[in-house]
Amino acid sequence: MSTEHPSNDSITSTTETGAPAPSDAFSLTAGADGPILLHDHHFISQMAHFNRERVPERNVHAKGGGAFGHFTVTADVSQFTRAAVFQPGAVTDTLLRFSTVAGEQGSADTVRDPRGFALKFYTSEGNYDLVGNNTPIFFIRDPMKFPHFIRSQKRLPDTGLRDNTMQWDFWTLNPESAHQVTFLFTDRGTPANWRQQHGFGSHTYMWTNAGGEKFWVKYHFLTDQGIATFSASEAAAVAAQDADFHRRDLFEHIARGDHPSWTLKVQIMPYADAAAYRFNPFDITKVWPHGDYPLIEVGRLVLDRNPENFFAQIEQAAFEPSALVPGIGISPDKMLLGRMFAYADTHRYRIGTNYLQLPVNQPKSPVNSYTFDGGMRYEHSGNSPVYSPNSFGGPVANAEAAAESGWEVDGDMVRSASTLHAEDDDFGQPGTLVRQVLTDTERVVLANNVIGHLRAGVQEPVLSRAIAYWRAVDKGLGDTIAAGVGTP
Ligand code: NDP
Repeated sequence: MSTEHPSNDSITSTTETGAPAPSDAFSLTAGADGPILLHDHHFISQMAHFNRERVPERNVHAKGGGAFGHFTVTADVSQFTRAAVFQPGAVTDTLLRFSTVAGEQGSADTVRDPRGFALKFYTSEGNYDLVGNNTPIFFIRDPMKFPHFIRSQKRLPDTGLRDNTMQWDFWTLNPESAHQVTFLFTDRGTPANWRQQHGFGSHTYMWTNAGGEKFWVKYHFLTDQGIATFSASEAAAVAAQDADFHRRDLFEHIARGDHPSWTLKVQIMPYADAAAYRFNPFDITKVWPHGDYPLIEVGRLVLDRNPENFFAQIEQAAFEPSALVPGIGISPDKMLLGRMFAYADTHRYRIGTNYLQLPVNQPKSPVNSYTFDGGMRYEHSGNSPVYSPNSFGGPVANAEAAAESGWEVDGDMVRSASTLHAEDDDFGQPGTLVRQVLTDTERVVLANNVIGHLRAGVQEPVLSRAIAYWRAVDKGLGDTIAAGVGTP
């Protein structure tokens, strides 16, 4: 009879219920050459569990990687927020997950795409999740468009192929995408690795200080490693060789003690400035120019610990913009308001009702919530009351401690674009990026990246519309792209 290949000092493997496993090599058969017996419960439990090994991948940001670390406050921003995580000297454990947006689990890390920058702070006041990207802006400004946008970036229903015509069709029919698309087609759309890129909160959030004073805030995590990008051809060559290039790079750097870090700076807008600011400060397709609101240092984020188990700690990690702490709130940014619902809901579907009880997602501070039961409930409150109010000593909400922050609203219920501010238009800021920020070389690279993408199968009438779109961003750039694709 063949053996199990044990070494003498091996730990005994067990069944799922903890008894010694009869074999990890042989199923139970009626005679050496006979059929497998249904009562081989150990074999059946192995196969049944195997069939359930994967959870549904995230519909967006499916492919990624991440690491643990800590955030240290190096400056004093207590005049703007009372959040414990941002008080002078505070050190907070963190988890950061990077990702592409459109690709599926096995897709290449180096494709042109924004990169997710999802950060969880395990603060003393509860988890604070800042779920951002490596760009300060986004393609759309109303979440009603989000499912349409993502479907246009994914796959055709018949062929199952990705399709440049579909991508440009959506972008050009939604001109608010121009700023993000311009950013994406510079080489910052193909970062060389996750360490050498910035991270942005992207949305506008609200900070509230101990005196109850409110401020609007934007987060910028500036890489301490310096920016590094791939050219389009380098990114394609790496994708062909190593689909997991960015995941590998991060893991290997941390494993050898080369710990990447980012300096957190914020832009602070006084609460009352928002109404008359030249751009709608809650429009995620716009930045706040640094000249208007300069960067203020807050602290430093370091990644210094790899996951021990990718599935348990990264795949099952759940980030949600609704995980807020006292002193940090949301804003009228409609994309953010839509995400407040969508993220927690996707985790309930993808991982399960009690996803927040998994060690990677569990707050470090005590949870005394009335949510009850549900699949895979692990933590529980014994026989304490399951309803509120009650007469038996159950926890009581504390509005003052929660310090929910809000803003004034008025008006009829409408489905409408936001009111335009003085300089709001879709092409102004991308035009500034092209003309005032990019170097001559970077402008040529941008044009070539767009030309390459448009020439890869974009059909009329979308192609002509794409030329008009680029001419609206910058006339000269549009003309160069038109010449490059051979359109009049
Ligand atoms: P500034 O000159 O003060 O800042 C320009 C910004 O552009 C810097 O943050 C710089 O980041 C960044 N940048 C440089 N090269 C590129 C590139 N190839 N792709 C994308 N970003 C790049 O200008 P303003 O604040 O007045 O903004 C002007 C334009 O700069 C905006 O319209 C926007 O397109 C872009 N921008 C602005 C940001 C903001 O929050 N104000 C943030 C990022 C971009 P770095 O220091 O890494 O070089």
